[in-house]
Amino acid sequence: MSTLYDRFEAAFMPNYGVPPVALARGEGCEVWDVDGNRYLDMIGGIAVSSLGHAHPALVEAVSRQVATIAHTSNLFLHEPEVLLAERLIGLLGGQGRVFLANSGTEANECALKMALKYGRTTGRTYVVAAENAFHGRTLGALSLTGKPSIRDQFGPFPTDVRFVPYGDADALKNAVTDECAAVFLEPTQGEAGVVPPPDGYFRAAREICTASGALLVADEIQSAIGRTGHWFAHQHEGVLPDILTLAKGLGGGMPIGACVGFGPAATIFAKGDHGSTFGGNPVSAAAALAVLGTIENDGLLEHVRTAGAELADGIAAIDHPLLKGVRGRGLWLALVLTSGRSPQVQAAAQRAGFLVNALQPDAVRLAPPLIITSEQVTAFVTALPAILDEASRD
Ligand SMILES: *Cc1c(COP(=O)(O)O)cnc(C)c1O
Repeated sequence: MSTLYDRFEAAFMPNYGVPPVALARGEGCEVWDVDGNRYLDMIGGIAVSSLGHAHPALVEAVSRQVATIAHTSNLFLHEPEVLLAERLIGLLGGQGRVFLANSGTEANECALKMALKYGRTTGRTYVVAAENAFHGRTLGALSLTGKPSIRDQFGPFPTDVRFVPYGDADALKNAVTDECAAVFLEPTQGEAGVVPPPDGYFRAAREICTASGALLVADEIQSAIGRTGHWFAHQHEGVLPDILTLAKGLGGGMPIGACVGFGPAATIFAKGDHGSTFGGNPVSAAAALAVLGTIENDGLLEHVRTAGAELADGIAAIDHPLLKGVRGRGLWLALVLTSGRSPQVQAAAQRAGFLVNALQPDAVRLAPPLIITSEQVTAFVTALPAILDEASRD
């Protein structure tokens, strides 16, 4: 009898390898594999499962919507998408216009097309992004992704993208001339290892873009929807981008992406410039409304700050030769290791009943559901020294 893992390997393209756990179901912050083993989910489907698994509000919203009308296409409009766009605008100070997509990379494709159209009409010929940035895997978003190992074999790309070191405001200033159409930045770099920039960097980026007339695009696909303890990470520095992209946590597990334009950027597209058959799908829109409503009604932003501080402080208090420290904000953290043993940490955590993500050789990502309890945080922190011991051995 071949296992599910063998069958996965035989049936799928090799782009993911074979993942180490086959999950069967989840409830709250816990998931069970196909053999019945239980894990505390400390990665939340890569910062996606904001309400954990099988949350009643999400189940109710999705079930009701799928039983009412599951799809309209963009030939027809529907109330859930209007409510969602209005809700996002409301969270962003009452301004902006929204495009709904199905994923993060598509939200960035939308932003890039807006930047290219803006550039075309203003004589701006290139775009700036950061080294080690991750903006997605489709060709437009991939051209902005500053990681040679995932981009180089698919180039050259049609867009002139110039890369600057992340966090260096002077380098950014030098790179952004009046021929630059847009600057794409993550407020904290996610895939690079949950790497926050120095304080004030995002504000400096805002000033540089305003001075030169380039659009500032905040890729908040991983950082938004409460992940850092605010609705959006750019709010930590009190600045608004010209374009904002969202996805991961927005749908609580249902696929959805959003691109929001502010000021003149809100109306760069004219009728016919962009579209998506599934984008703004009623079921995903209903899911996103349930996520936003639950975060607000249950006070989850405040909870993320408290639980995130407990988690970060708990980790920081551990004295272990493999552990250098912890970085990040809210419930979006990286355990920073003293050597490249993150795969061993991930494997040892799994054996101990915790799902974490070996993000970089020396960085392990934690992005648990926003509803993680204090007891669950304590359970992880308590188990961590033994996990690190084991990871140091094998
Ligand atoms: C995950 C991610 C993306 C890509 O999102 P997909 O839904 O996988 O296409 C883009 N930008 C950032 C910052 C991300 O974290």
